[in-house]
Amino acid sequence: MSGIVIIGAGETGTRAAFALREAGFSGPVTLVGTEPHLPYERPPLSKPLGGAVQMKPICSAEALEAAGIDYLPGMSAMQIEAARRQLLLGDGRILSYDRLLLATGARPRRLVCAGAERALDFRTFLDAEAIFSHAQTDANVAIIGGGLIGMELAAVLRGKGTAVSIVEMAPKPLGRAVPARFAARLHERHMAEGVRFHLGQGLAEITTDAVILADGTSVPADIVISAIGVVPDIELAEKAGLAVHNGILTDAFLRTSDPHIFAAGDCAAVSQPGGGHMRFESWRNARSQAETAARNMAGNNEAFVAVPWFWSDQYDLGLQVAGLPQPGHHTVLRALEQGDLEFYLDDGRLVAAAGLGPGNSLAKEIKLAEMLIAAGTRPDPADLADPSASLKALLKSARAA
Ligand SMILES: Cc1cc2nc3c(=O)[nH]c(=O)nc-3n(C[C@H](O)[C@H](O)[C@H](O)COP(=O)(O)OP(=O)(O)OC[C@H]3O[C@@H](n4cnc5c(N)ncnc54)[C@H](O)[C@@H]3O)c2cc1C
Repeated sequence: MSGIVIIGAGETGTRAAFALREAGFSGPVTLVGTEPHLPYERPPLSKPLGGAVQMKPICSAEALEAAGIDYLPGMSAMQIEAARRQLLLGDGRILSYDRLLLATGARPRRLVCAGAERALDFRTFLDAEAIFSHAQTDANVAIIGGGLIGMELAAVLRGKGTAVSIVEMAPKPLGRAVPARFAARLHERHMAEGVRFHLGQGLAEITTDAVILADGTSVPADIVISAIGVVPDIELAEKAGLAVHNGILTDAFLRTSDPHIFAAGDCAAVSQPGGGHMRFESWRNARSQAETAARNMAGNNEAFVAVPWFWSDQYDLGLQVAGLPQPGHHTVLRALEQGDLEFYLDDGRLVAAAGLGPGNSLAKEIKLAEMLIAAGTRPDPADLADPSASLKALLKSARAA
């Protein structure tokens, strides 16, 4: 029996390998990963403790062995022969499969300007080690991109006393995924911590000691880090003739255009109930899609349904966002002692919630909001705004109704 092969040993691929066993699959499972280490978590890379990069393994070598997962580290899949259900590995070996999971993730988007090759990426453990070993206290660091990863990195570097500038094309940082109220709060906090912002500015050139902006401003930079987002890793899928469009296209069951091949995590653009396909880049999405894909590869037929959720830690502040807040939504603010919560309603229905407060202080409220969203509730905005109205009670009455 050929069994199941998983390409990519990140959060998605590794979680899927274990979830196959949890789903009762007893055939061979092979996990192929380009990176040389044990599978590890990416979020801790931008949240180092005491300035030291954390390598947080997803699992131990013993756990892989105990689960009968054949892990091939430092090994790339080079080509898929979909018609033969075979795959060519970097060392020339050919693997056959009954089912294949593409969990190839995403890779950093490349800067396009003179001297772009001088910029460091920030995606892998090796990238993080290179950045933190170079970025000493007396260094000037320029981060290109004021998104979540760039802002988290800025917070960590300021914590070490390093001078940090952020260059961002948009007029405000964090504009893409973070609701305006919280993006503004985080921006203010970064300024108070001494981060220098250059907003609404493109790059003309990266030199050996500066970043030259489109308007000619020279920003001193011993180290330049590119944090301008990622692109899904679709190369293998595309060459194999699978349908792709900003991600590997899947149906709701995470099956690609080839019924024997599934895709999940950062690389997958999943069919949405309202039409179109959506790709999410978050830790929880990686895990939950991995679990659904694994169960379906093991023989189930389960549509992927989940409320999107992500978190970000910057200084002592924790941001959490559940659902997909949009500028057109009706917004309701609930001011709590420990921070603010915002709810987003679409035509009366609760579709998203976000919160910002110290550490994990709003985790319980966001979890309850997530359950209210998943239950499709239409809460009274006055109740949502009232800190004394318990979200648990709202959920209970919505469920009873
Ligand atoms: C620095 C950082 C901080 C983050 N912080 C947060 C956070 O706070 N909250 C949050 O929700 N999310 C966060 N994320 C996002 C989250 O970590 C990702 O969404 C998640 O890791 C995606 O997992 P994945 O397995 O789909 O993809 P990846 O993690 O990209 O893993 C894919 C793996 O596949 C391998 N691969 C690719 N092609 C091949 C091939 N041909 N053969 C073999 N192997 C291959 C790659 O080398 C890679 O190891 C962060 C990401 C980064 C980089």
